[in-house]
Amino acid sequence: RLLADVIPPNDIGVTFDDIGALENVKETLKELVMLPLQRPELFCKGQLTKPCKGILLFGPPGTGKTMLAKAVATEAGANFINISMSSITSKWFGEGEKYVKAVFTLASKIAPSVIFVDEVDSMLGRRENPGEHEAMRKMKNEFMVNWDGLRTKDKERVLVLAATNRPFDLDEAVIRRLPRRLMVNLPDASNREKILRVILSKEELAPGVDLEVFANMTDGYSGSDLKNLCVTAAHCPIREILEKEKKEKNLAIAEGRPLPTLYGSEDVR
Ligand code: ATP
Repeated sequence: RLLADVIPPNDIGVTFDDIGALENVKETLKELVMLPLQRPELFCKGQLTKPCKGILLFGPPGTGKTMLAKAVATEAGANFINISMSSITSKWFGEGEKYVKAVFTLASKIAPSVIFVDEVDSMLGRRENPGEHEAMRKMKNEFMVNWDGLRTKDKERVLVLAATNRPFDLDEAVIRRLPRRLMVNLPDASNREKILRVILSKEELAPGVDLEVFANMTDGYSGSDLKNLCVTAAHCPIREILEKEKKEKNLAIAEGRPLPTLYGSEDVR
């Protein structure tokens, strides 16, 4: 059950080049995660440069937080373990504590690994949450204990990356364990254009399409919204073809001609 949530680095399929804009966040992540792995000698001098064990990505939905976490794992050659409250409630209902322990044990065994906690606020939200279920409280404690255990046991090899749209709902104890917090914000027009370029980099565009115009028309769109826009646009030519075929078919029927070969047999009529 747990192995289903693990993606080996070569299968993750997201690199930093697949992420448009967010240059500062990407640079900071490279410095915090990749550099310590590639040039450990630069980080062994004092206490202040010790590699960090937890990074929080926060910002509105659909801005690329999950993509960033996956790119970090890919580029660091690390296994990606995705955990979220929804996977716990669907697959490990009532066994959250066991699940968390299994995740950390596995992460250490297959290190280097990135444990990505999506919607961290729903999993590790404020402790004083009234009516909090006992099983939930135990799961959170288990998470903290294992997380702290990593610091001494596994040196630089297991990283917890957490993402949230609601950073203010996080437990103080969780915030303390995530000393580096990176804001992943909605893109402005020039960043929307960069994101559109990345999303459309492998597509054939109609002549005369000016992405700057679309970037200026999409104020408030997230990267995810821009992706959806492109998917919808890509379906337009398909709809046009189907529409044209339908017209030809109706005309053929009206004129009592055989249907165009595309429609084939009688039963399509
Ligand atoms: P949520 O907070 O809802 O979990 P998120 O911030 O984790 O969202 P992602 O899941 O990383 O967002 O992004 C959703 C999709 O939007 C991606 O799969 C990708 O197609 C597109 N996308 C978002 N941001 C970018 C970006 N900067 N460059 C390219 N594509 C992007």
